[in-house]
This record gives sequence, structure tokens and C-alpha cells, in this order.
Amino acid sequence: MTHMILIVEDEPKNIKVVRDLLQANGFATLEAQNGQQGVDMARACRPDLILMDIQIPVLDGLEATRILKADPATRHIPILALTAYAMKGDEERVRAAGCDGYITKPLRLASFLEQIGAFLSPVEDEGNGP
Ligand code: MN
Repeated sequence: MTHMILIVEDEPKNIKVVRDLLQANGFATLEAQNGQQGVDMARACRPDLILMDIQIPVLDGLEATRILKADPATRHIPILALTAYAMKGDEERVRAAGCDGYITKPLRLASFLEQIGAFLSPVEDEGNGP
């Protein structure tokens, strides 16, 4: 089973970095370029995890997170905030909005994959059930 990750990010360069990194490590990816599109896509596709840029158009990442975490159909999906600025109080703000974690850009490969992996169920071997 391949894990599906929704990337909600408006900067094409960042989208490419994250997409390439995830695909090279065996993940399938979906992309949305604004908060409303991110909410719609999360509802339609039920990804295993969402990477949410905070500064995105239409709905910002915090608003989009609040909507998804208020919806019983999507509230179980882990949301990791992506933000370029590491200002004091940011972590508090993203957690208050309902984000499950927080990743600072630029990404560092090892910790990025580790943080994502911590929120995903292990890939199971097929035919190994009881
Ligand atoms: Mn942005």
C-alpha cells in the first residue's frame, strides 16, 4: 500500500522540491495550490497525510486546517504545517489551529522523512493477516 500525501503549497519551486522528495521515497502525491483547493481535495481524496503551507491564497493554511479538523470525515488525517518563517509563537498558532506537527522550510531530508513517517501507519505485508 502506497501512502498518499497531499501537498498544499502555492510556491511552484517548493511544490517541486517536496513532490520530488516524496516520490523518490515511495510516496504518491497530490497537489493543491490554495487553501480552498486543499480542503476540497482532502475531502475528495482522503490522503494519508497533508503537508500544509501556512501562507497560501484564498484560505490560509490555518483556516484550511481548522475546516478539515472540524469535519468528522477528515479530522483523522494528520496535518503537518510547512512554514518558511520560524517566528516565536508560530508553533503555538499552528497547533491551536489543529495541526499535528510543524516543519520549517527549507526542509532537511532526514528529519522531514522522519516526521512524516511518525504519522503514517507502517506499510503492511499483503497476505499476512490472521
Ligand atoms: Mn506559501
